[in-house]
Amino acid sequence: MDKMGKATKAIHVGVSGDFTLGAVSVPIFQSAVFSFPSAEIAAECFSGARSGYIYTRIGNPTVNALEESLTALENGAAGVATATGMAAITTLFLALLEQGDHVVCTASVYSATSRVLETTFSRFGVKSSFVDTSDLEAIKKAMEPKTRIIYIETPANPTMVISDIHGAAEIAQQNRSLLVVDNTFASPYLQRPLDHGADIVLHSLTKFVNGHSDVLGGMIVCKSNELKLKIRTVLSLFGGVMDPHQAWLILRGLRTLPLRMEKSQENATNLARFLRTHPKVLWVRYPGLPEHPQYHIAQRQMDGSGSMIAFGVQRGLEGGKILLNNLKIFTLGVSLGGVESLIEHPASMTHASVPKAEREKAGILDELVRVSVGCEDLEDLRDDLEQALSRIP
Ligand code: PLP
Repeated sequence: MDKMGKATKAIHVGVSGDFTLGAVSVPIFQSAVFSFPSAEIAAECFSGARSGYIYTRIGNPTVNALEESLTALENGAAGVATATGMAAITTLFLALLEQGDHVVCTASVYSATSRVLETTFSRFGVKSSFVDTSDLEAIKKAMEPKTRIIYIETPANPTMVISDIHGAAEIAQQNRSLLVVDNTFASPYLQRPLDHGADIVLHSLTKFVNGHSDVLGGMIVCKSNELKLKIRTVLSLFGGVMDPHQAWLILRGLRTLPLRMEKSQENATNLARFLRTHPKVLWVRYPGLPEHPQYHIAQRQMDGSGSMIAFGVQRGLEGGKILLNNLKIFTLGVSLGGVESLIEHPASMTHASVPKAEREKAGILDELVRVSVGCEDLEDLRDDLEQALSRIP
């Protein structure tokens, strides 16, 4: 399996198995409960002496197929699928943190991730420091004796700041901490953090992996089975599991991940080049542009530049509003990674709950607009941006 290319893995892993009866598409095991042929076999399944399905909160064959696929794509040892990306993040923290522990986290992180650390885990005695994790010295400075997790999101939402996974992994190892990477923005097609020394990688599957803006989902892939077992136990107890029908839909999306990523990335590369020369655009952050501050790190740890672009528009908040209100093909909405191009304004939408001073410290300026480039025709996307930008006085 390790020898397979990533497109072959995305299409084939998780399909085979005795249970499929030769079906080319993984069957949906829409069953909450599984029966046993005898009381003895039931007892063996419960004791762990025999593997077998018991109850869908503990395991389900369709969900398992998705878990196998993503674990193979991330080059991990084992993984678990969750109801949403946030269920993956909170389950991971619940499983691995104890009272008194400390987390070092990317400052420009998905807003719900920082909120759950600051408002919920803080109530249970977990302390967090938010730092610019693109700066390895800042990570080192923030480390404390009880730092259990270094949590990085790279590329980060919405600033596109890139953190050095290998460098962060070395710091984690020296401090006996775990390095966790949110790989949602790149997808396993473009970046595999476990190969660079991370201990755990997680995803909002809602985004590029599913790719159609119609299903929520999350995934945690671990470098060891031991870590996965810890997380699996907490997931089964807290119950934020994935449902079989949801798993089947995400598997269907995953099969075209390579095609969608190639097309949307090609569009994004061209649009980033177009935007950087536009008079109404102040700056562009795209990992494929040499002026990106962490361009060389992106080149080293990513297989491509992806489909997410952040840029600043002239006239700040007002300019952003004019742009968003005049676009005809780009859809105004949060989320990302779908086949359709989406645009949003973090300061007034996804990151509005983050206080302005904190937002600006993390680089989330009022003028910043975030684009998730889709698979439409490039000319249509470029013309749409051109006509909407030209409305900014
Ligand atoms: N991680 C990142 C980088 C995200 O952008 C999001 C959602 O936007 C999440 C995690 C949370 O995922 P979900 O909405 O599936 O819970």
